[in-house]
Amino acid sequence: MFKRVGVIGGGQLAWMMAEPAKQLGIELVVQTPHLSDPAVAIASDTVLATLADATATAQLAAKCDVITFENEFVDLPALRCLAERGTRFYPSLDSLSPLLDKYDQRCYLKNLGLPVPNFTDFSSFEHSLTTLEFPLVLKTRRHGYDGQGTFILSNLAELQAALTRLPDVPLLLEEFVPFDRELAVIAARSIAGEMVVYPVVETQQEHQVCRRVIAPAQVSVSIMAEIEAIARTLLPSLDAVGIFGIELFLTPSGQVLVNEIAPRTHNSGHYTIDACATSQFEQHLRAICGLPLGSPHLICAGAVMVNLLGYENASCNYWEKRQQLLAIPNAHLHWYGKTESRIGRKLGHVTVTLEACESLALPQQVATIAQRVEALWYDRRGNDGVKGRRSE
Ligand code: ADP
Repeated sequence: MFKRVGVIGGGQLAWMMAEPAKQLGIELVVQTPHLSDPAVAIASDTVLATLADATATAQLAAKCDVITFENEFVDLPALRCLAERGTRFYPSLDSLSPLLDKYDQRCYLKNLGLPVPNFTDFSSFEHSLTTLEFPLVLKTRRHGYDGQGTFILSNLAELQAALTRLPDVPLLLEEFVPFDRELAVIAARSIAGEMVVYPVVETQQEHQVCRRVIAPAQVSVSIMAEIEAIARTLLPSLDAVGIFGIELFLTPSGQVLVNEIAPRTHNSGHYTIDACATSQFEQHLRAICGLPLGSPHLICAGAVMVNLLGYENASCNYWEKRQQLLAIPNAHLHWYGKTESRIGRKLGHVTVTLEACESLALPQQVATIAQRVEALWYDRRGNDGVKGRRSE
């Protein structure tokens, strides 16, 4: 079993590994650019450097048995030099390589026979924009997150406006999917090839940012089975090791389309900390350290997770609001310890678990729980964390 794990990235995803790491006797070392990043406080050691700094990753490797990722903003070719010299990465660089660029990822999924929206590399249309039919979705091929880099376009003027903001950036163009709901699933695969799949959840985005997650999603057994089959095709094909998040669209006709794969722990899996036998963070550590995987099953009737997004630019720890959120029955608050709030920044989340007598079958139940959390958090002025957002 590996005991010293290096994490490239020091945000909340690394921070949420702290608790299970302690329980499993694993030491975490992080590579992150700022001393104020959440995981610095819980790491046994920190390499203070940008995420794409492979020289710093070489220093990280010297302190660890295995290196894992908190986000995708890495310099893959530079990391390959380290892998050739013996640094162990889980997931492996080969697993990551088809996923880091959204166009490459779409091609990979399509070649694997998985259902994806119609898409094309934008450069093939660059000189014939007037032939395009709207609505369309334009995405930066790399470095997008929380909807940064995703543009839903209704007409040519909007496309041209988006292009002026994206000079010389490789782009992906795809059909606008008028989805009924967005779904997601977390799956884990171990070094030995063992796999577990968590319950399918519904995710609710506003302005392309995740606001709420409902576990389990209220969808038919056949849709759940179809999504589990997607996970069980994808992870072995990638020779994946660790947690992978899969985001999907469910169309009004009941078709499932894969939107995006995250080769790491994911916001749609935060509910697992309080609602499942094994959290995604523990599972990730188990998978990459060579331990047997844990059960992914729910230990309650269901859960609603609500992101707490910054709604102002301020230096504040929101102590009072945190106490009020904690007073909600069955609410579990996870506060990431970020010292600065910025509009749209993910500062924490609340998961409300459901008792056996409660059910998520009624959309009203979910709305009531989410409204209770959001009314407290976004306060009397009705501020909204996503307008004019900047995140992470
Ligand atoms: P990011 O990688 O920044 O999270 P995504 O590609 O997941 O970006 O897009 C963010 C959100 O934008 C999605 O959750 C969805 O709500 C919306 N979106 C993305 N692609 C499409 C599409 N093809 N059709 C309709 N909505 C989309």
